[in-house]
Amino acid sequence: MYRITIDKDACDGIFACLTRDPRFVEDDDGLATVDPAADPVPPEGSDDGTIREEDGKIVAEFDDDRADEAREAAAACPPNAITVEDI
Ligand code: SF4
Repeated sequence: MYRITIDKDACDGIFACLTRDPRFVEDDDGLATVDPAADPVPPEGSDDGTIREEDGKIVAEFDDDRADEAREAAAACPPNAITVEDI
């Protein structure tokens, strides 16, 4: 199981993240959020996860095989707004 955190204060809306992991999508405020079912259709066995907003951060927890994609998105984010940790 892993947790993705997006620090909205740090996010610049550059969207390098979504080219690595399509779950990172644009929210109404122009900054990144997480949509577990975003296009393309998630691979079989993907988790809907739990997603909440907490202290200006998006906190999403999943138990599936997409942790590597999330880590690539985190590595691609210029202001390091994304954190991925095993939980
Ligand atoms: S790459 Fe980083 S700064 Fe850009 S939208 Fe994604 S989370 Fe925000």
